[in-house]
Amino acid sequence: MYTIIIHYDRGETFRRLLLRIGEIRSLLPAHAKIMALTATATAALRMEVSKIVGMRDELVVSISPCKSNIMYSMIKFSTLTETFQPIVKKLLQDGADCPRAVVYCKFLKDCADIYEFFKDSLGANFTIPANAPTSVLEFRLVDMFMSCTDQEVKDSIIKLFSKTSNLRVIVATMAFGMEIDCPNVCQVIHYGSPSDVESYVQETGRAGRDGLPSMAVLLTNVGRTRHMEKSMSEYVTNETVCRRDILFNNFDNYSRVYSGPLCLCCDVCAKSCTCSLCSINHSSFFF
Ligand SMILES: [Zn+2]
Ligand SMILES: [Zn+2]
Repeated sequence: MYTIIIHYDRGETFRRLLLRIGEIRSLLPAHAKIMALTATATAALRMEVSKIVGMRDELVVSISPCKSNIMYSMIKFSTLTETFQPIVKKLLQDGADCPRAVVYCKFLKDCADIYEFFKDSLGANFTIPANAPTSVLEFRLVDMFMSCTDQEVKDSIIKLFSKTSNLRVIVATMAFGMEIDCPNVCQVIHYGSPSDVESYVQETGRAGRDGLPSMAVLLTNVGRTRHMEKSMSEYVTNETVCRRDILFNNFDNYSRVYSGPLCLCCDVCAKSCTCSLCSINHSSFFF
């Protein structure tokens, strides 16, 4: 058995590498079986990949990446203070009992600015115990994870975020990626939109792995936007259709089976919910 791994980058390299798989297939006996696996791919991408690698009448086994315990919402960003102060307040109040969150940024500078905001706002309480040396990762409540972060530091952050520790918030770029499986993240916040729905679903899917109610918040109006694919742009500009439907209709096997309160589905559905939970302000974070 041979295993070929291709890291998905959406560009020409990706297509060129996939074409090579087609070449390899031509060297194999006709009865050789090929299995292609992916974590998150839209139906359109899956069909494109099948075509490029020369699959015909393939058996497709897929499940929708939609998780009913994640609420999707969009919030217009105004200032770091207005957006993140509720999290600072909760960190000051609950310390290491505060629910965990990941803040995704597209740009390194945003990542650094948001991390510094938390550090400044928390002051002496940036660490547990208060006023402990901030250079010791184990003391910190908030940390930063970028592609340029030292591998040793990256490994320590992932380890701390995966077990009982002080670490509550990670401010990260997309480098905080595929191999991450932290069970108790209740909120994933995007400071600006990813360019495609696959990335958005993968990154928001890091919330609620323990099955508990979680939230995926997309902050818009952050100033800079990179090229956005049509499906992601539809998600971002939508104001009337359920966000869950808009997002997961891009993927195989999605059928609306959400049966919880509308206010825990998405901010669009929340507008027409009349359940007893509706007293909670859903335009805000869980914190
Ligand atoms: Zn909805
Ligand atoms: Zn409700």
